[in-house]
Amino acid sequence: MTVRTRIAPSPTGDPHVGTAYIALFNLAFARQHGGQFLLRIEDTDQSRSTLESEQTIYDSLRWLGLDWDEGPDVGGDKGPYRQSERSAIYAEHTQMLLESGHAFKCYRTAEELDALRAQKQEAGGFSALKFSDLELPADVIAEREAAGAPYVVRMHVPEEGVCTFNDMLRGDIEMDWGMIDCQILMKSDGMPTYHLANVVDDHLMEITHVIRGEEWLSSAPKHQLLYKYFGWDMPVLCHMPLLRNPDKSKLSKRKNPTSILYYKRMGFMPAALLNYLGRMGWSMPDEREQFSRDEMFANFDISRVSLGGPIFDQEKLSWLNSQWIRDLSEEEFVAEFVKWGLNKETLMPAITHIQPRVERFSDVVPLAGFLLSGMPALTEESFVHKSIEKEQMTELLQMGLWQLEAIRNWQKPEIQQRLFALAKIEGVKPKDFLFGFFVAIAGTANSFSVLDSMQIIGPDMSRSRVRHAVDVLGGISKKGMKKLDKKYRDVSAQIEAQLAETQE
Ligand code: GLU
Repeated sequence: MTVRTRIAPSPTGDPHVGTAYIALFNLAFARQHGGQFLLRIEDTDQSRSTLESEQTIYDSLRWLGLDWDEGPDVGGDKGPYRQSERSAIYAEHTQMLLESGHAFKCYRTAEELDALRAQKQEAGGFSALKFSDLELPADVIAEREAAGAPYVVRMHVPEEGVCTFNDMLRGDIEMDWGMIDCQILMKSDGMPTYHLANVVDDHLMEITHVIRGEEWLSSAPKHQLLYKYFGWDMPVLCHMPLLRNPDKSKLSKRKNPTSILYYKRMGFMPAALLNYLGRMGWSMPDEREQFSRDEMFANFDISRVSLGGPIFDQEKLSWLNSQWIRDLSEEEFVAEFVKWGLNKETLMPAITHIQPRVERFSDVVPLAGFLLSGMPALTEESFVHKSIEKEQMTELLQMGLWQLEAIRNWQKPEIQQRLFALAKIEGVKPKDFLFGFFVAIAGTANSFSVLDSMQIIGPDMSRSRVRHAVDVLGGISKKGMKKLDKKYRDVSAQIEAQLAETQE
């Protein structure tokens, strides 16, 4: 048997450090066994998937030194490797399950499903929807079918009993079938859900080991059942512990930058970031902290993964990065530094703002150095404004930050629309409103368009700087936050409604 592992990221938003973490362990496992590692793009959610996001996944994984043997961009003989190009395969497999009686068409409406769920919840016990809940009389089905009503295809799951499945790191795990819905396999628009597409693809792509994040543990019973329905062998499952914020909560962009692009722009060396990800739940046999990708691969043993939630800590990462930086010769330092920031890719997006504003090249760094730096050096005085008091400034920045967190595709028009809508609701002139953002992002109000600057430095770097600004202003008390949060809910609803209108 040739070991084959994969990652299956969804191309939505920025490339996540969690994707790189899982990729690293899959690649290490494949390399250790002389096997193959492949990359599959799970883009069945067409409304959220973008080609730009897909490209940034490729670029940032390669930047880190993670390479795949098969994938949408490199080919391979088990393709296509993009789920949106595999619709016919999923339709065929859905049909197989319908014919074998392991799946059924479900004509239940959204209202009926809500009512069924409410009923089950009220009755106490498990609230998962089973065939016995969903079943409709034959004449109702016929009627709905004749009227061309939309339907989904669901899988049958046992009504009760216990499901046992095995996880490489955890051994046997038991889950009550009562907790598990008759999972939708095919949506009413004919697109497969994650569960169907993932199982079919893993089988057809001959994946032997599924190494993925712990958040997918609860999907395992459904997947195991699907393998059984199809009569296929199931790959070995291995669920990696989730990366956590220092407060132990799940790593999230609200508390921590999660985009690989942020770490790149912040000037972490790819080898150091990869090294740090290798230390998430894993250690070298000699416990040494600094090691290269190849040293990790040479010593890899997945049973050394420990299940306590590994903490992704910026300070620890910075320390490790400093070790890598110190190990460079002066020549190498210069080469790495130039490669990082003084290159075409980084400079081009900013040149249209810089060129018309400088008289000499020596004016460039004072004008645009903030694009290449981390957090600007700020004090409370930096935010003194003629008409906005400190407290209001802090609140505007915080609400602006929440708006920035709501953006999925980081583009200037949406950043502008959201921030200006917020300014209007708050009754503040756009120019006054943006003052705090200028200071937060560029360190001064005398800079070129802050909206363009945010577009250039990217979502995580922008959010981190605004968060930093709120901190510099002394933050918001617990009580104040509660009040602001309440007010913001209304504000946010208004902005979402406005955005929905303009998108129509
Ligand atoms: N598309 C899923 C994700 O985004 C894949 C999960 C899996 O590896 O099965 O993480």
